[in-house]
Amino acid sequence: MDDHSQTHVVPGDLRTQELSRGVFAFIQADGSWGWSNAGLIADAGDALLVDTFFTLPQTRHLLSAVSAAAPGARVTSVVNTHLNGDHCHGNQLVEGARTIASACAASEVEHELPPATYQWLQNHPPEGASGRYALRHFGAFDFSGIELSPPTMTFSDRLTLHVGRIAVNLIELGPAHTQGDVAVHVPEAETVFCGDLLFQGDHPVVWSGPLLGWADACDALLATAATTFVPGHGPTVGRAEVKRFAEYLRNLHWQASEAADAGLSVEEAAAQLAVGTYSELGLPERVLTAVAAVYRGRGLAAPATPLELLGPMARLAESLLQS
Ligand SMILES: [Zn+2]
Repeated sequence: MDDHSQTHVVPGDLRTQELSRGVFAFIQADGSWGWSNAGLIADAGDALLVDTFFTLPQTRHLLSAVSAAAPGARVTSVVNTHLNGDHCHGNQLVEGARTIASACAASEVEHELPPATYQWLQNHPPEGASGRYALRHFGAFDFSGIELSPPTMTFSDRLTLHVGRIAVNLIELGPAHTQGDVAVHVPEAETVFCGDLLFQGDHPVVWSGPLLGWADACDALLATAATTFVPGHGPTVGRAEVKRFAEYLRNLHWQASEAADAGLSVEEAAAQLAVGTYSELGLPERVLTAVAAVYRGRGLAAPATPLELLGPMARLAESLLQS
């Protein structure tokens, strides 16, 4: 069993990438569970931040990078692409800013795991694979001091804002990764901050689905004609990678559907699909969350909540390590 005696991660490897004048991506190395990306649009002393991080120490580190990237600019808006903790737990540190999310994301916030649950998992890890998985991936984060606050402004479908003279389009594209996913398009920078509508390097987590709707959301990202896409996790990419990600989602949908037709359980189907294809991607156990979404979409019994998905995903991770 991992040692979980309060050895907290020191937030370290955060890379600032200038995509265009006043438009920046902040990429956390690793990109796995809890290591998300953020974005900044700054002009004429004003600034809009796309997402905060999982913990207060990580977000303090982000805000130092923001100050260095746009000295003197004041962050007056935070857009949360969705309300998973790794994209909004640090909101409270951006003092005086309004926080914007889709109305749909705001309405499902009670389904999110609160910081207290992460702390509880650290201090009282369940027996077996679930506890080992939770400690391995979440054990080193410092969740202390986080106070959740609901978004102060919500919207549906689309909303255009201006940061100085830079136009910023918020586009609601859920349900996909979650019910209320939002992408942030900056036309003059030909850039989209995709939140967790795009994962790079690891298999995606599917909290909501459907996968085909998510693939259509990727087509909508491409329809902006942007050339630069900042994923929620992993490095910034171009159009080809977004196309490939949409293909991945469609492919997984059809493969999971075939497995359901063949009468396989969620666990059996996920074990089959997690090996072989897309072996270049990390965290193959997350395939189980995609399979579960397909099964739920067909009215079949399948785990739905993060805590329900944790056990079978953790068991799959261990069986993949052993094989
Ligand atoms: Zn995320």
